[in-house]
Amino acid sequence: MAILDKKDLEQKADNIVARLNEYLDQGKKIFATCSFQTQSLPLLHMISRVERRIPVYYTNTGFLFPETLSFAEKICGDLGIEAIALRPEMTKNRQLNHEGRFLYTSDPDHCCYLNKVQPLEPILIEFDVWINGIRGDQSDVRAQMAEEEAAPHDCLRYHPMLNWNSKMVHYYRQFHDLPPHPLEAKGYLSIGCIPCTTKFLGDGNERNSRWFGMNKTECGLNTTLVAETA
Ligand code: SF4
Repeated sequence: MAILDKKDLEQKADNIVARLNEYLDQGKKIFATCSFQTQSLPLLHMISRVERRIPVYYTNTGFLFPETLSFAEKICGDLGIEAIALRPEMTKNRQLNHEGRFLYTSDPDHCCYLNKVQPLEPILIEFDVWINGIRGDQSDVRAQMAEEEAAPHDCLRYHPMLNWNSKMVHYYRQFHDLPPHPLEAKGYLSIGCIPCTTKFLGDGNERNSRWFGMNKTECGLNTTLVAETA
């Protein structure tokens, strides 16, 4: 892995911090979402460098790994970040199909809608700018995104990490001594809900270990919660 220029990387991070400050100076209400994976840490670190409060929301689907929850608590404590859990309105005993099995077994799109998309919608109504840490190298859908993109309810999506890659994330973490998610040592590189996450299979994109064997690559936050352009 070639060494990246630290100064260049820090400049990129400074630009993101400056942009966040700019939104706030314009009087915009801004929030971030986070899935608390290893790769989430550089953006969280930049958010922590903004002196004004930026709330960080995460969808606690009820299916997250306990390691993710404890990692989130530790990181937010260390960085002085306020993390707010969003929970689904529909209780789990109503999220069953006609055979009495959880929806993720038969209709994962609807399961993601109930547990991730629907809980986030009221937040888009409340805020002006949504800081979302997707990267273009993670999937074809994400590669199509622009740095700023309209979201529903007159909210603006801001994707500061869009042009970062895994190497840049790695070095930023190294420069700032940001720890990995505890499950990374056990072979998990892309970590979401327990039923829909497998260990990294060693080939292709690390996100292939999500919804393995299903015709699904996105949870809906980056497909449904994008404003339609006529
Ligand atoms: S990732 Fe899986 S368990 Fe989590 S909300 Fe989506 S379908 Fe349901």
